[in-house]
Amino acid sequence: QKRIVIIGAGVVGCSTAYYLNKMGQQDITVIDQGPLFETGGSTSHAPGLVAQLNFSKLLTAFASQTVADFTELGDGERPSYYPVGSLELARTPERLNDLKRKAGAGKSWGIEAHVLSPKECKEKNPVINPDTILGGLYVPTDGIAKPLRAINRMADFSKSCGTKFYGNTEVTGINMIDDQVKGVETSIGDFEADLVICCAGFWGPQIGEMAGVTIPLQPIAHQYIFSNDIPELAGESEEVTSPIIRDLDSSMYYRQVFNSIGIGSYQHEALPIEISEVSKYGESADMPSIKPFTPEHFLGKPWKDAQNLIPGLKEAGRKRGINGIFSFTPDGMPLLGESEKIRGFWVAEAVWITHSAGVGKQMAEWIINGAPTLDLELCDINRFDSYAQSPTYYKPRSKEDYEKVYDIHHPFETPATSRNMRIIPYYIRQQTLGAFFNESLGWEQPQWYEANESLTERYENRIIKRDGWQARYWSPIIEAEHLHIQEHAGLYDVTAMNKRLEISGEDALTFLQTLTTSNIDISIGSMTNALMLHELGGIKDKITIIRKDNQTFIILCTSAVEANWIQKHVWKSGEIVIQDKTASTCGLGIIGPGARDVMQSIDPQVFAEGAWEAKQVKEIYINNIPVLAAFDSKCGLEYWEFFTTNDQGLPLWDVLYQAGQANELIAVGDRALESLRIESQTLRYGKDFWSEHNPYEINLNAWIDLTKDFIGKKALIERGKKGPNLVSSTLVLDQPDKVVMGHEPVMNNGKTAGFVTSAGFSYSLGRGIVTALLDPKALENDTEWNIEYFGQKISATVLQKHNIIT
Ligand code: FAD
Repeated sequence: QKRIVIIGAGVVGCSTAYYLNKMGQQDITVIDQGPLFETGGSTSHAPGLVAQLNFSKLLTAFASQTVADFTELGDGERPSYYPVGSLELARTPERLNDLKRKAGAGKSWGIEAHVLSPKECKEKNPVINPDTILGGLYVPTDGIAKPLRAINRMADFSKSCGTKFYGNTEVTGINMIDDQVKGVETSIGDFEADLVICCAGFWGPQIGEMAGVTIPLQPIAHQYIFSNDIPELAGESEEVTSPIIRDLDSSMYYRQVFNSIGIGSYQHEALPIEISEVSKYGESADMPSIKPFTPEHFLGKPWKDAQNLIPGLKEAGRKRGINGIFSFTPDGMPLLGESEKIRGFWVAEAVWITHSAGVGKQMAEWIINGAPTLDLELCDINRFDSYAQSPTYYKPRSKEDYEKVYDIHHPFETPATSRNMRIIPYYIRQQTLGAFFNESLGWEQPQWYEANESLTERYENRIIKRDGWQARYWSPIIEAEHLHIQEHAGLYDVTAMNKRLEISGEDALTFLQTLTTSNIDISIGSMTNALMLHELGGIKDKITIIRKDNQTFIILCTSAVEANWIQKHVWKSGEIVIQDKTASTCGLGIIGPGARDVMQSIDPQVFAEGAWEAKQVKEIYINNIPVLAAFDSKCGLEYWEFFTTNDQGLPLWDVLYQAGQANELIAVGDRALESLRIESQTLRYGKDFWSEHNPYEINLNAWIDLTKDFIGKKALIERGKKGPNLVSSTLVLDQPDKVVMGHEPVMNNGKTAGFVTSAGFSYSLGRGIVTALLDPKALENDTEWNIEYFGQKISATVLQKHNIIT
């Protein structure tokens, strides 16, 4: 067994120790600089509101696990969880509509939720003035967590398993040899360890620095205020009996504390804190994680909004307030997993109490089994490339996250800060064509081009119209580009779509064979798609492999997480060199029935009829530009993708674009390609399936070669015996003018049967089309299918019961 040191005895450190112990791990030491277990960290003073339902499936899963665990962790008399329910209120029609969408997410993710009228909200929590709101979302299983009680119970269990807890002990250094953790230095001496887990809350970056690892989070002070007793709660002897309240349009939240109200406010500007400004335990009258209250951030509008919603607060007045510190990240998600830089250095950072036990469980599984059961890609500490490790990137973006925390978030929303981090060589050309950019893997990626505006007239009779929610971050140009590609040709950027690794060496092929499930001993000058599985048999990525020569392969994988996963596994192998070519190369694609004409106009011989077979790869020149050219078809259309070094990217764009002018070639954005993908029912890793799924669930039996050994094979065979839990299916919407957006619940005979993974419009069928993960049992009885969109039922028909990956 490995020796594990956990830094931090807050709710995250203790949850992780608890789950490691539950899974049989011994030899764990938990170290905290503060006294146990009221250590002075964020956990020590947080009011403990738990709102489980989130548009993120993953965060919802973490929260449900926390509720289940904290419910079990009472001591008989004093619970660790009060299931008093929650009310999420709407003051505007947009918010009320969004709550209907959220109720739908509740069905998708298995959390009961109901939209209530203002009167019904008041019946649930009588302190509310119903005249201020238009309605609310009620989640009966939400409530108040008592993290310190839960921690004590978890620690009792851990101690019974032999785990040692040290309070008042500061970790001052990480001992490492050859980029491998060996232990920690502390104020009371060294502790040896094979694995260190940093659960140091907003101090995380300081611990990270000791190991040379960037932990991209920003500590921010957030206001929490206690009222005096309010008349409506007079005589209340229980700590909390009424539902928690989140007044999203005012960026505020409320909970009952016996006869008074606790008020949280995100209405103020973000107040970033530097670690150097944080006191040590005992140095100030308050805990280290508490800064003095700044009334100027509360006494204006926030306090008025509070009194307006809860009139009892006017009479009661406020008692005291704090500016409590906790962590925010560039994308609002936690930071979990092992650092790509230092083996044995794990982190569980930027985790709310709401998600704590859920995170602890996944961390333990990841460490002990080699993979977690949930897909943690969105939380993976290695998801950021090097550009995002700079404070000038992650600090402004984390502040933006704080300020938008209760906003209505759109799936295609574009971040406002930390833009232009990675620029494609032909960016200037894209800009001139009026590209609408969003960020993809840090790159500025065109979504559509205003230069194609005139095409909306050409395709006017065919373009599906959108309004309201669907029309945000959308343009009819996307649809025009989609239709134009199907009839002519589109030029698109590939650079921002994936990570590119070159793998070479004597053992490269052997290594890739163990990494993938199918035989990838392909001929030189060809490419293939392949699956990687993780240790538990779930899909780790769908990758493209190009064979350049006997010992050199190019891998196109989804993101930095998968690239790191490949790197991590290579450490165990032999003569292999991996080079990350993502930053030094770029790629352009040309797709559509007119693509061949465009290429023949550049070089009639190289692109002659019959000169290219499907999945063929050649090193050629386009004019004087050396490119690696790959030919294949996707979405039913022929395409070439050309990769070159960044210095030749701009000339390559110019050659292709100019040659295309005689052949109706247009530059097209990522949204048109995504739209084509959905129309052609092409499943995408990370959207339609992810690491929680195994290949059998998405009909990929043909991609599995059980005659060879590969990572995850044993687990896959076991999983295959059980049959699929969910299958990927395609449905079409029955009314021709309807489209949905993704993540909506799919209902069969009135019961939730699954949820939408990708949604779009099929121009060939003239109908909205979705791919969905569905319960295979529901598919046996093929009657009455609906998709619930903002509370409305849209009838649908199953087009394909079991999708096949291509
Ligand atoms: P912490 O509890 O801060 O624990 C980290 C520990 O690491 C500390 O005990 C610290 O002493 C220790 N440590 C740090 N450096 C060292 C070192 N060098 N050596 C040894 N030990 C070290 N979340 C919710 O879910 N619901 C809410 O309603 C809610 N409300 C909040 C309100 C406020 C005002 C604040 C401030 C936070 C709120 N949060 C809420 C967020 C939540 O409190 C935190 O996200 C959570 O407590 C973080 O837990 P943690 O274990 O990661 O961090």
